[in-house]
Amino acid sequence: MHRFALRILASSLIFGLISACQPADESGIQKKLDQYASFTLTTDLAQLTQQEQDMIPILIEAAQQMDPIFWQQAYGNHDSLLASIDDPATRQYVEINFGPWDRLDADAPFIEGVGPKPAGANLYPADITKQEFNASLDAPEATVSQLRSLYTLVRRASDGSLTPVPYHEAFAEHVAVASERLAAAAELAEDPGLKRYLELRSEALLTDEYRDSDLAWMDMKDNTIDVVIGPIETYEDALFGYKAAYEAYILIKDQEWSDRLSRFASLLPDLQRGLPVNDAYKRETPGTDSDLNAYDVVYYAGDANAGSKTIAINLPNDETVQLEKGTRRLQLKNAMRAKFDKIMVPLADVLIAEDQRQHVKFDAFFSNTMFHEVAHGLGIKNTVNERGTVREAMQEHASPIEEGKADILGLYMVTELFEQGEFAEGEVMDNYVTFLAGIFRSIRFGASSAHGRANMVRFNYFQEQGAFTRDEETGTYSVDLEAMQRAMGSLSRLILTLQGDGDYEGAGALLQEKGVVGPELQADLDRLAEADIPVDIIFEQGMSVLGG
Ligand code: ZN
Repeated sequence: MHRFALRILASSLIFGLISACQPADESGIQKKLDQYASFTLTTDLAQLTQQEQDMIPILIEAAQQMDPIFWQQAYGNHDSLLASIDDPATRQYVEINFGPWDRLDADAPFIEGVGPKPAGANLYPADITKQEFNASLDAPEATVSQLRSLYTLVRRASDGSLTPVPYHEAFAEHVAVASERLAAAAELAEDPGLKRYLELRSEALLTDEYRDSDLAWMDMKDNTIDVVIGPIETYEDALFGYKAAYEAYILIKDQEWSDRLSRFASLLPDLQRGLPVNDAYKRETPGTDSDLNAYDVVYYAGDANAGSKTIAINLPNDETVQLEKGTRRLQLKNAMRAKFDKIMVPLADVLIAEDQRQHVKFDAFFSNTMFHEVAHGLGIKNTVNERGTVREAMQEHASPIEEGKADILGLYMVTELFEQGEFAEGEVMDNYVTFLAGIFRSIRFGASSAHGRANMVRFNYFQEQGAFTRDEETGTYSVDLEAMQRAMGSLSRLILTLQGDGDYEGAGALLQEKGVVGPELQADLDRLAEADIPVDIIFEQGMSVLGG
């Protein structure tokens, strides 16, 4: 995502802060590196047509252009930073983080002499303040909208004033290559929707006009290959959240799971009627046309490949496109497999009772995650007592309560579908024990997020209801099947009622009382840290591991 003459000035500003470029502590770096487990991204290419197989290396070449652009956006000059570092572990950690700041440690610098990461990364001048930016907004309207644009860098003109530089100029060299590669892939595309999207995306990279290609992406239904590429998320801009960071995902649709997901979505109205709550709280009819599909990822690049890795995508972000066409939700199955194998399994070895560990299974982890997504469609969106939408009434409690709802109703869905014979994979106990292991994972990794708080509430609620027990001697947990099912019903009822009543106070009380980690749980989580269980994943990826 970026480059031009001004970048050299900006990156040398940051680079100038580095004196000897020694890691703060070499064994400390190795420990940081060990937080990431390596996983090879593959899929079954044999399911693709010959032309689709021929597209993959071309798309990877397009995706690879996102790396140098994101380097520029996040930090500045990759080559000069790397050239200044001898220690291989430090070099690798720099590559993982796209710069000298630790993305798993609140962007703390991990190289001696490097200062704090600028809030605006290298998207703005390093010395900019919010006040200066806001003061520059009395410029002509066109300049102001360019300064705030998703698709510009902010730089200093020779007189020191702030000036916007369009991405397609700043990063002209790389977007030209990516654009040409997308056009070449479009020529091979057999699916008309994919062909049209690739053609429009190829143009968009050269103009920074993304809406038409976003609309075309929403119209893609039958494509096996999918590509997300360009400036997309704005998290890298911690100053204002205005600027989009370049990234790419190359994806292969999992047709079997995608078909099952649309089948499950079609069952939502029936499941809604069966919810364990009074009729008033289930009087809406859920939509059944959810655009939810499962994929294997074969390539991550740029922002998507920096630090912690995403296992689900919900796009596009353009609200105009969302209003017209909705969004698409993409679940990344092999990336979930990576987190399961490298994090969930070793976590279960520490915290799940030995005689229940065989129930911690990837299929259950994946189906729990899928049912969570589908279960967002259950319950109601509007309060039953004229308090407006649930989201408005619940204010800042809306997200943790809604995530908690999707978790518990996802488990309810699995249970119902097992009973109806719609779902026959493994046994319901796999889903329950894996669900419990998943609670530990989410609490450990997401204490500050909506998901994390939802999981703390559920942990404490389940414990009070006897849904699981803890063995004092081994410090491991076991699911009690019947108590779990009872707790699932009563917690579902509690959350659906809070939402339907728009009970802001009640939700706040629940989160305050139960959204906490008690001393016993904290001690158990500390045992995970001592066991050096990885926190995230890095990928071996590309044609060398895909073959073909
Ligand atoms: Zn969710």
